[in-house]
Amino acid sequence: MGIVSPSSLLPLSQTKNIISSSSTFAFSTQIKFRLDFRRIMSSASKSQTQCVSSSTLYQVPGLDPLEMDSIAEKTFERYSSNTVKNNGKGVSLVWFRNDLRVLDNEPLFKAWVSSEAILPVYCIDPRLFQTTTYHFGFPKTGALRAQFIMECLGDLKKNLMKKGLNLLIQHGKPEDILPKLARAFGAHTVYAHKETCSEELQVERSVARSLRQVVLPPTQGNSSRSSLSHSPKLELSWGGTLYHLDDLPFNINSLPDVYTQFRKSVEAKCTIRGCIKLPKSLGPPPSIDDWGIIPSIEQLGLHLEKTTKGMRFMGGEAAALGRVTEYFWKKDLLKIYKETRNGMLGPDYSTKFSPWLASGSLSPRFVYEEVKRYEKERQANDSTYWVLFELIWRDYFRFVSIKHGNSLFYLGGPRKVEQRWRQDQKLFETWRNGCTGYPLIDANMKELSASGFMSNRGRQIVCSFLVRDMGIDWRMGAEWFETCLLDYDPCSNYGNWTYGAGVGNDPREDRYFSIPKQAQTYDPDGEYVAFWLPELLPLPREKRNFPGKSYIAQVVPLKFGNTSTQRSKYGGRQSRLQSR
Ligand code: FAD
Repeated sequence: MGIVSPSSLLPLSQTKNIISSSSTFAFSTQIKFRLDFRRIMSSASKSQTQCVSSSTLYQVPGLDPLEMDSIAEKTFERYSSNTVKNNGKGVSLVWFRNDLRVLDNEPLFKAWVSSEAILPVYCIDPRLFQTTTYHFGFPKTGALRAQFIMECLGDLKKNLMKKGLNLLIQHGKPEDILPKLARAFGAHTVYAHKETCSEELQVERSVARSLRQVVLPPTQGNSSRSSLSHSPKLELSWGGTLYHLDDLPFNINSLPDVYTQFRKSVEAKCTIRGCIKLPKSLGPPPSIDDWGIIPSIEQLGLHLEKTTKGMRFMGGEAAALGRVTEYFWKKDLLKIYKETRNGMLGPDYSTKFSPWLASGSLSPRFVYEEVKRYEKERQANDSTYWVLFELIWRDYFRFVSIKHGNSLFYLGGPRKVEQRWRQDQKLFETWRNGCTGYPLIDANMKELSASGFMSNRGRQIVCSFLVRDMGIDWRMGAEWFETCLLDYDPCSNYGNWTYGAGVGNDPREDRYFSIPKQAQTYDPDGEYVAFWLPELLPLPREKRNFPGKSYIAQVVPLKFGNTSTQRSKYGGRQSRLQSR
């Protein structure tokens, strides 16, 4: 086993028929439009057998740190402006939340324009790192995501320093820390990004309330207020979606309950705003003796099992920009995304942007601009569009969370569906630990625990199995995902789970995924299951997903039977839903 990372060690050959490496590029270019997804996956599987051992570890992106830094530096350069004017006064704070980036960061921009000095702050909030999920007591942030976020902070600090600033690391609740800092530095404003879900909104309200308790003397702060004593303001910007909330062609309460209607409407009537450009230097920051230290996972009270196989995502904006460069430009995979995106094995069947989008190390508007640049410089096709199509799903769930509020977290979901669910702990644990007796479920759940990631295909399958075949309370699954996923984001997670459980806002969504059929379509040679369940490796390929008695016993029967040919009562609807 070895970690696969810097270019010299890149496992390109392992994925050569799904995607291109320089030597196989011509081949994949010739075949890509003629092959349907199934054939691509099976040819991929064949090549992978030779090269993917069941202990391969992929670093994502597969670039070395110097290369990532150089990509970040060049990108910052491209996105800097020397025409922005600063005529502000005093000090302002930039409170970093799920926006751990420099590029396309509006609060940072506004702080620079309105002040003489900026103090960037991140609060290590015990409510994120030292508590449990709402109902079922799983760790609120699992060790893998905590590690990823700490890496994001390290990289953010580095990038802010390159811009002449720094990052103050504080331990505690933002509503306790920010007012103290605002008082100590006489900050006239705290700039931050706006969130949409209840826990984050509660923190915003508490911060605003506690800032109102701070009285700044007349001589300090913004010139327009300098003759009066005043309190620091909290100024929130919208900034995590492709489409800006203010640009939507309807009031948020009239957000369509059908995704396609939403997408068509925004595509027809809205434009995506350009990325915010910052000046090259934003410094210097106020003088501070101790900028704080980014804690280790152990200091956060968590324990990290070493990732030994699967994917190891590198946290931080440099890694995010590196992954965009790697996926779009170096490996030239964007043009085949639509054909490969339903894969499950390895880093290159899909973009893998989600962990960086969720932590805010990557701006979706930057991804949009890169797609447009690629379409201009290389080619535009269904695949280049499809990445945007998927990003619009992400936007959609964010807007759904505003329209439907807390109902996204309730058992009956936005549609208040009344249904009986089980909370059978033992059964749930077989799902969580990957011991259900169904290799496709078990492999996906093991991947989630080991690497903090699971493909979109895998997520839909394990969700359907938990809620439809086991009949278990979907919130148990959603909370386990909340713990484990590197890309956990309340809107996308609970949005997708409510859809999967049939309680989402779209009344037409009701999904059942047949495991035998999914296995035959997306893992026909059992490569994926054998990667995560090496005990299946010796079996003939066609048996790996159907191992019978040579694997652990199945804990529940499938609702619609065990054979891939059996049709469920969902009939045609099932295939329509699977094809999304
Ligand atoms: P790609 O296929 O490369 O897609 C590009 C981007 O589009 C993704 O990075 C993501 O930002 C967005 N996207 C794609 N599909 C979806 C989708 N169905 N919903 C929302 N955004 C999407 N995604 C999260 O980011 N966070 C979550 O907590 C999350 N929980 C999920 C739970 C379930 C039960 C399901 C079925 C899906 C969930 N997803 C979640 C959506 C999706 O599975 C991941 O975004 C995707 O697998 C990430 O891999 P990628 O970046 O390679 O995606």
